[in-house]
Amino acid sequence: MERVSATSPISSAAGAGPEQGAGDVAAMVERARRAQPVWAALGTRERARLLRKMARALARDEEIVRAIIAETGKPRYEAEAIEVLYTCELTRFLTSRRGRRALRPERRRAGFFVTKELHVSYRPHGVVGVIGPANWPLLNNYADAVAPLLAGNAVVLKPSPLTSLASHRAVALWSAAGLPADVLQVARGGAATGEALARTADMVLFTGSTDGGRAIAQVAAERLIPAVLELGGKSPMIVLAGADLNAAVGAALWSGFANGGQVCIRTERVLVASEIADEFVRRLAGRMRSLRQGVASPADEDVDLGPSGTAANIARAERQIAEAVAQGARVVVGGERRVDLPEGFLAPTLLDGVTPEMAVAREETFAPVLPVLRVRDAEHAIALANSLPVGLSAIVFAGSRREGLRVAAHLQAGSVCVDDALVNYFCVEAPLGGWKGSGLGFRHGAECLRQFVRTETVVVDSPLLGWITRALVAPRIAFPYRAAMTRLFRRFMRWRY
Ligand code: NAD
Repeated sequence: MERVSATSPISSAAGAGPEQGAGDVAAMVERARRAQPVWAALGTRERARLLRKMARALARDEEIVRAIIAETGKPRYEAEAIEVLYTCELTRFLTSRRGRRALRPERRRAGFFVTKELHVSYRPHGVVGVIGPANWPLLNNYADAVAPLLAGNAVVLKPSPLTSLASHRAVALWSAAGLPADVLQVARGGAATGEALARTADMVLFTGSTDGGRAIAQVAAERLIPAVLELGGKSPMIVLAGADLNAAVGAALWSGFANGGQVCIRTERVLVASEIADEFVRRLAGRMRSLRQGVASPADEDVDLGPSGTAANIARAERQIAEAVAQGARVVVGGERRVDLPEGFLAPTLLDGVTPEMAVAREETFAPVLPVLRVRDAEHAIALANSLPVGLSAIVFAGSRREGLRVAAHLQAGSVCVDDALVNYFCVEAPLGGWKGSGLGFRHGAECLRQFVRTETVVVDSPLLGWITRALVAPRIAFPYRAAMTRLFRRFMRWRY
């Protein structure tokens, strides 16, 4: 797989060097394992302070923005105002009092052995391997390391070999900010390096394709280590008859073509009510023709769409378009590679007359292609939306908030946006994750932090009532069993349940 060559003159050798094999990865994990107890011993508040320091450095770093643009070709807006901003916002929330509360030890009262106290505490797993995708070199790479780090783990981050500069820059900023060495490291390489990491780390967080996630799940199953899997989708956008058409068209445009069509929660298929479909397609086609696609300048906002991803992505999209056309779909806009631009640009493409059996309606495209399928009503849209073996996200434009929420409640997806698009990814206070083949676990929300800790429960006598256990309960509930106790518990059960 190759990606469009760098478009910015950044001269960083950070990501250079041979692919790291199993031995290198094992040595990194070993170093991380030695550094981790000291990091954990700092306590959650201090780790939060250091991670906020890191966010401050990122928010002011021109080099990270240029690294992202250089390795992806995306517009500056997407590098800075999406990737860096998101990373800082996620850090702000997770390190806030509300986020940190998820890691605080708790004391609970026992309901059966009422004289006992239950102390529940959360301890880091140790070393978490974070394996990141190519499309968001910071937002799904260093940013994914923030929750495991805050929870007290060390992280070995394995970015995609296609876009690893931003991760190396993040580690450089980590060192420059005086954060502890070896707590965050970056491994160089592709699938084999990722697998080696999954074979040595104590836990793995994988973001990438569903196939890659399955491979990681197999390794995790063999080793019985926890794995959080954030995988691909085929997210539907539902537009019903009463919808605000201009708003829906704007949402389809941004969610279909942001990041050159490489967003996990992007609109991968539009399910539009038949009676408004012609008008929807007409307006969307008009807006698409004004999209500026090309090589972004790192200093300006002269482009809306950068390159369309890996050669494999583009080839898959072309195959899906060709198959759809052969089966009766119509290319309304685009449909071909841009010959007037450097290699790697597929023109933003709108396909009408798509039917559910076509590959473009079923398989993830992950490129700037929007297929439109016509539906009879909300129930038909819900059935089609739920018909695939993935369920990452969805968008609903239903004409009213009430109907939007009703439709959302019937969708099989980890996150749904009503009357808007993509903003759910920035709502970091609430969990976001995949159903079905879109993954296991979730990112965001204080809940996500609990994935990166083990739970320990300590049961101990309460200081005031403990004597009751010792004097009356303990001697009677264990050996030797007595018929009188069985009768007592029988009476108790019939009274209590
Ligand atoms: P990919 O699966 O090809 O690669 C992702 C990462 O996993 C890379 O670092 C790669 O080197 C590594 N990898 C691949 N196969 C592996 C294996 N068998 N063992 C270990 N490591 C392996 O995905 P990509 O093309 O980089 O990213 C695009 C995919 O990621 C899309 O499917 C997209 O939907 C998904 N994605 C999901 C989310 C989410 O939050 N759910 C976010 C971003 C991207």
